[in-house]
Amino acid sequence: MIIKIENLNYIYNPGTPFEKKALNNINLDIARGDFIGLIGHTGSGKSTLVQHLNGLIRPTSGKIIIDGIDITSNEVNLREIRQKVGLVFQYPEYQLFEETVYKDVAFGPKNLGLEEDEIKSRVKKAIELVGLDYDSIKDRSPFELSGGQKRRVAIAGILAMKPEVLVLDEPTAGLDPRGRDEVLGRIQSLYEEEGITIILVSHSMEDIAKLVNKIIVMYEGEIAMEGKTREIFKQAEKLEQMGLGIPQITMFMRQYKKKGNEVRDDIITVEEA
Ligand code: ADP
Repeated sequence: MIIKIENLNYIYNPGTPFEKKALNNINLDIARGDFIGLIGHTGSGKSTLVQHLNGLIRPTSGKIIIDGIDITSNEVNLREIRQKVGLVFQYPEYQLFEETVYKDVAFGPKNLGLEEDEIKSRVKKAIELVGLDYDSIKDRSPFELSGGQKRRVAIAGILAMKPEVLVLDEPTAGLDPRGRDEVLGRIQSLYEEEGITIILVSHSMEDIAKLVNKIIVMYEGEIAMEGKTREIFKQAEKLEQMGLGIPQITMFMRQYKKKGNEVRDDIITVEEA
């Protein structure tokens, strides 16, 4: 298991009038090479959970073990963990700040103290992995790019750290259809070509249906359902009770197939839903 979570609890603002239990006894195993969709209505705890995975939030109680390392222990090297688990926040382009794409993507590897040659090769590879042309984009300002391109540059900055696990929190939020396709397409090829473990947080059932092979459903701070994509989508009634509508998926699948797209074998089809 690349990620193991045991009895994880998290309370915001404990002992104050704003106290809020956001995670309640989470137990989870994620295997290397999994492509997980983490879904659940707003406020169900998805962001709180993923921020635990690279030590951004420390648990109120419980254990998180990443690649055999207990990251909840006091001796842990958080820098090492953040390199292993790359977290792409919502609207990551807001964190672009350098004057060129190259410098932005190089920021993380530079902080790792790597040699210039190694930095350059990582930056080039990361930019190519997100489907951008290195030579024509490296000297441009990130601020003059399209929404989809900006977001891909931000993702490249995380990939340049060579993470073993990539966590993407709502990676297509706010993008136009073209930008969405660009970003999702690159995430899919990253998974297929690089074999990286991916956790995709999304409230878009469409994105989830297109991509992932396992789903975790959160509800009120707990893991309510867990299983293969098609198994989860079959339980329409239960999903609806959690505010996750199957009609959306059915409609999407119809349109998706109408456009002549193939539906992956391990993904649910309309007829089965
Ligand atoms: P999701 O990502 O599924 O929308 P969150 O993890 O953001 O859910 O939120 C889980 C719960 O924790 C919600 O009730 C939310 O209001 C609460 N919460 C999130 N962030 C904070 C915070 N910084 N302070 C207090 N409560 C928070």
